[in-house]
Amino acid sequence: MSLNMKETINAIQTRINNALTRSGRSPGSVALMAVSKFHTVNEIQSAIDAGLTLFGENRVQEACDKFSVLELDNPGISLHMIGSLQRNKVKAILPLVSCIQSVDRIELLDEIQKQAVKTNKIIDILFEVNTGEESKSGFTDENLVFKALETVSNYTSSNIRPHGFMTMAPFTKDEKLIRSSFRKLTQIQKKAQDMFPHFNLTELSMGMSNDFEIAIEEGSTIVRVGTALFGARQ
Ligand SMILES: *Cc1c(COP(=O)(O)O)cnc(C)c1O
Repeated sequence: MSLNMKETINAIQTRINNALTRSGRSPGSVALMAVSKFHTVNEIQSAIDAGLTLFGENRVQEACDKFSVLELDNPGISLHMIGSLQRNKVKAILPLVSCIQSVDRIELLDEIQKQAVKTNKIIDILFEVNTGEESKSGFTDENLVFKALETVSNYTSSNIRPHGFMTMAPFTKDEKLIRSSFRKLTQIQKKAQDMFPHFNLTELSMGMSNDFEIAIEEGSTIVRVGTALFGARQ
């Protein structure tokens, strides 16, 4: 294990804990996800050896290539899909992940439900919401999110377990814009939880290397950190 990785993780964990303390939240209420896209199996293995257990990938082929190997040797780790997902790739990614965070349209839900039923798998999902102006992915309107929740409610014996929401803040240095984007997601969560009390919509996946402290102050429960952990992507 690289000592460096351990130190990097400790430093990030300290910043996470400080943000939690600052906002009056309890320690341990945020999960640190290592976003390992573009990084090698060896780099991921060193993160696992340093104690990380939650990983995120955004491309199906890359995720399959790397994690079908890694999971055999590391039974305790889990992987989430965080990138835009085509319907014809659902079947391939499903066996490998415990959660799909990037559900951004209803036809994708239908395919996940179909494949999950076929393989008898219960799959967590998050609804990705476009809360900024320039993001390309995610539901663009809260009413579409509610409609998607309705869709899952109407499945007879759903294999899909809606578990919350995911967003990416706009790429900017303007802290106000970033904060308001995260706040939007929290507001949608509150509304959705009131409307769909039979779901446990507690997860808020928001915050990346450059903005995870703001996200935690706004209620994030999962921060998705790539660059700050592994360095710049090639
Ligand atoms: C790449 C990526 C991240 C990590 O971004 P960093 O700025 O490297 O921390 C987080 N979330 C998603 C959806 C990503 O695609």
